[in-house]
Parts: sequence; structure tokens; C-alpha cells
Amino acid sequence: MRLAILGGGQLAWMLALAAEPLGIEVAVLDPSPDCAAGRVAELVCAAYDDPDGLDRVSAGADVVTYEFENVPAAAIERLHVLPSPASLAVTQDRAREKELLAGLGIAVAPYALIDSDDDVAAALERVGAPGILKTRRLGYDGKGQIRVREAGELADAVAELGGADLIYEGLVAFDRELSIVVARGADCAVAAYPPVENEHKDGILACTLAPAEGCDVAAAQAIGTQVAEALGHVGVLCVELFDTPDGIVANEIAPRVHNSGHWSIEGAVTSQFENHVRAVCGLPLGDPSARGWSAMVNLVGTEPDGAALLAIDGAHVHRYGKAPRAGRKLGHVTVTDPAALPAVRALADAAWSA
Ligand code: AMP
Repeated sequence: MRLAILGGGQLAWMLALAAEPLGIEVAVLDPSPDCAAGRVAELVCAAYDDPDGLDRVSAGADVVTYEFENVPAAAIERLHVLPSPASLAVTQDRAREKELLAGLGIAVAPYALIDSDDDVAAALERVGAPGILKTRRLGYDGKGQIRVREAGELADAVAELGGADLIYEGLVAFDRELSIVVARGADCAVAAYPPVENEHKDGILACTLAPAEGCDVAAAQAIGTQVAEALGHVGVLCVELFDTPDGIVANEIAPRVHNSGHWSIEGAVTSQFENHVRAVCGLPLGDPSARGWSAMVNLVGTEPDGAALLAIDGAHVHRYGKAPRAGRKLGHVTVTDPAALPAVRALADAAWSA
């Protein structure tokens, strides 16, 4: 079997590593000759919307998948892509995402769409302040967002983000951030991972604790399952959640393997990467249960000394082979013994640069 992946970053790298023992060949499409997945998979080096590159990467492939949601929709029209373009279309647009979630009866932050200055007053009336203004498309890791502390700031924030195609959300008073990862197979079976707790720094995921302690597991898993079913999704998806005193509020959907699921390589019976490969290749899903407790720490900006990390008992180091740059995810470390976490965190914190 042969799988093509659009994007050759670390997610594609971990997908390719999971595909290998299953006997599945992988080819990736990425504009960068140094991309992470190029080290372990056949690399077609071309732009994501280059028709010749798309033809070459998908030649002989049984199925095409992607590692990021901003794949140009037009680029994949001709290909057999899973998860299907419906998953992409909804998750590329925060407004459609919110509509889907609210339509399923899942709690979301109050929101209003802003397409011109004329919408500002109505948005403030509906949502109030404080809030967060976001671009509807192409935002990630907190980019394309402005916090609005009081009503008078919204008009300027709208101008700063381009004046149109924006969504203004009320600020959710959450106790902590959670996420839920589920895999859905071609046979419609769903494998839900345990919900996890996520800590962010500078708007970037810094640490994931799996499973999250003391949260409403059934509610979180039901959200992931409902979303996957509503999209007819085949593959892995993640829903980012806020845990509030009044219950869980859904924030954002990623139609792909997710950074908050990296713990599953060592921490779950079947990793999110293997389950995504299984799902899109039409194979049975594996058990998503946690083997026990685990934590994943991201390495961002500059890398700590590799030997120092490996000197920590039980530290599982994953280095993506990317050049250091402020705010860039360069690797992650997973531990399955809580005693190892403080030392890993200390090294990661000291090297963190955003
Ligand atoms: P997002 O790009 O939507 O994932 O937002 C990035 C981060 O901003 C989230 O992880 C939250 O910490 C915060 N955030 C986003 N939307 C809201 C909201 N409506 N209320 C409170 N915090 C939010």
C-alpha cells in the first residue's frame, strides 16, 4: 500500500514512521528540500498547489492525506483525499466551525462575524467585552488574534486585522485547556483517546498531561465523536476545549493529528499517527487507551542539549531536525514517569524562545 501526504513537516514525519512497520510506503509533498519527513519518506519537492508536484506525489498512491488544514481546496479536487474536503472546508473557517459545533448542541463562546466597520456595534452588543478578535482563516498558534480588553478597542483591532472576514468571540473564563483526539475509520468505527490537559506559553502548546485528571471524560469524548461523525471524517481529528465551572466549551477543530496527541506514541496502546494511517488506509483502528500517565513537553525556539535530555531516565526524545528559530517547534519529549517531568521541563524552559 502507498500513502501520499501533503506537507512534509514533523506531523508527516511521525505519520511516515508509524506507517513503516505496517508495510505502507509513504511519499510526501513539501516545498522545502530539508523538510522533516523527507528523511524517512520519498520527497516530492514542490509547492502544495503545483499540479505537477501533486501528480507526482499521488502517482501510485492508494490514498492522499494531509498534515495541515490550510491545503488549498482547489489543489486537491482531483485527488482521492482523506479526511475528505468537507473536513477541510469546515475547519479552514472559524465561523463554519462554530456553526457546526453549535448546531450539534456543543457549547461554544458567544461570537459575532465582522465583515466591515458597520458590524462592530452589533458585535459588541451581542458579545460584549472583553473578547478576542480572530481572523476567520489561516490563524494558528495565537497568530491573527487580538485581545480586546474594552469595547472601545474593537474598532482599532478590526482595522489592524484587515477589516473583514473576522470573528469576535467572548472571553471564556476557563479553569484549564483540554483537548480531545479521536480517530474515525472508513468503516465508521470511532476510537476516542482520553481527553488531555494542555498548558500554553506565548500562545504555543508547551506541555500536555495525559490523561487529564478529574475532567468529564464522557462529555469530551462525545464532542470528538459527534464532530467526526458530523463531518463524515475519516482519519484523526482534534477538538480544543475549555474546561469551565459550567462544563466543557469547544474552541477549535483540527482535522488532523495534533500536537496534543504526541504523548500517544509512548503513552497509548496505539498512537494517533498509527490510527490516522490505519483510518485513511481503510484498516481497522487500534486501541486508543492510555497505558498509564504520560506528559509531553515541546521544545520550542532553540533545542536543549540532547545528551542532557537523554540523561533523564525515561525521557523519550523526538527531534524534528529543523533549524532553530524563535517560536518554532523543534521537537518534543515524552515521559511516562511523573518523576522525570521536572527535569525535562527545566531543560525545555531554559531553551524556550518564542
Ligand atoms: P485558538 O487559535 O483559537 O486556539 O486560540 C489560541 C489561544 O487563545 C487558546 O488556546 C486560548 O488560550 C486563547 N483563547 C482563544 N479563544 C478564546 C476565548 N474565546 N476565550 C478565552 N481564551 C481564548
